[in-house]
Amino acid sequence: MTQTQPRPVKIIPRSDHDISRKYIDENSLKVLYRLHRHGYKAYLVGGGVRDLLLGRHPKDFDIGTDATPEQVHKLFRNSRIVGRRFRLVHVLFGRGECIEVATFRRKPDENEIPDEGHFFCENVFGSPQEDAFRRDFTINALFYDIADFSVIDYTEGLEDLRRGIIRVIGDPDVRFAEDPVRMLRALEFSARLGFDLHADIAPAIERNAELLIGAAPARIRDELLELFHHKVAGKVLQRAAKLGLLEFLVPDMQPAREGFDLLRQLDLRTATGKQVDEPMALAVMFLTPFRHALNPDMPLGDVHKLANRELSRHCRRFSIASGIRHQAREMLIAFFRFARGRGRRGEQRFLRHPFAPVGFELFKLWCECCGEEQELMQSWSAALEGSEEQKPRPRGKPGSPRRRRKRKNPSPRP
Ligand code: ATP
Ligand code: MG
Repeated sequence: MTQTQPRPVKIIPRSDHDISRKYIDENSLKVLYRLHRHGYKAYLVGGGVRDLLLGRHPKDFDIGTDATPEQVHKLFRNSRIVGRRFRLVHVLFGRGECIEVATFRRKPDENEIPDEGHFFCENVFGSPQEDAFRRDFTINALFYDIADFSVIDYTEGLEDLRRGIIRVIGDPDVRFAEDPVRMLRALEFSARLGFDLHADIAPAIERNAELLIGAAPARIRDELLELFHHKVAGKVLQRAAKLGLLEFLVPDMQPAREGFDLLRQLDLRTATGKQVDEPMALAVMFLTPFRHALNPDMPLGDVHKLANRELSRHCRRFSIASGIRHQAREMLIAFFRFARGRGRRGEQRFLRHPFAPVGFELFKLWCECCGEEQELMQSWSAALEGSEEQKPRPRGKPGSPRRRRKRKNPSPRP
């Protein structure tokens, strides 16, 4: 059943749950206690509570309170008010740590949401209960109250957490229409936590997929990157393709089996502790169509054009900076140079190219994924490490100065 009606709140005392303060970040505790000492409600909210209850290490700890942003700002000298649509307070600590404090709010009416620009919602503060019901999934709407260390559950989130279910708060059609990015988040949390989607979610995604066209590209881009950081890009994008969401999510990506396998291989690599950044994510997403359009004797200039062609529409759509696109493109070109084999002209220079190591990572990923070109991979690996026997380069006598090649058509130097 969907969660449509507010139910009686469940309060789970400290003795009946496993959240211990020793797993809560020290600075978040400081903020919670200070708010509490000054008479405000102070709750840990959202993903932090969910992850602590699951025995996982939360990515961050967000705080909810009934103090207004101005009141919070007054309490913390090291804070600033931020946000365009909704105002929040960032409390800053050493080493760049930032704790986000949000005043409880209700779902704003449509005419209360500012479209663009500098105006924020004035009248959207609400009760803790309203704050719980504006959230996306029941498991993301749990609160931990610093006043008595209890867990507060307005949406039956604890039961869903126990049963491993992602359930939309309210009617999925309505909530997905309100914010289509929630469709992607449903798939993301299902993959990250190994939870099942409630039976009403997949059909609602199929019905509402195209609404994603209207979502802000910057938000989609952020959520996409989250998929890579959480090692679920392959699973989620493949499932998105099945539900008809991918074509509106990443319209320029082809839903090919081979591409999803490669994404899964990248997720496995991330799971070993290796960093994944946006250029790598882009190179992997667009490697398959790039590879299919290549032939081993293609001149590098054409390979360059091809890589650009594969990346540019996506990068334009999501306003991805040219520096990031440049890195992704260089990785694709390096992939081509590794894949076409050894012994080509300029090999030694290529091996010293700044993008050779990351390009090799991409090539290695592909070899591991499809089980091909293992020997070539080993051979390149040795060459990159400089551990293979160096063939003497054709030069003059030892010790004699290197001769420079004469430039054809020398142009006047400045
Ligand atoms: P994690 O940070 O581990 O990725 P999270 O649950 O903390 O997971 P955030 O994106 O940090 O996710 O959002 C914090 C909380 O804000 C969520 O737990 C949820 O309650 C609420 N939230 C985030 N995005 C939405 C949304 N699109 N609609 C409704 N509520 C949302
Ligand atoms: Mg979070």
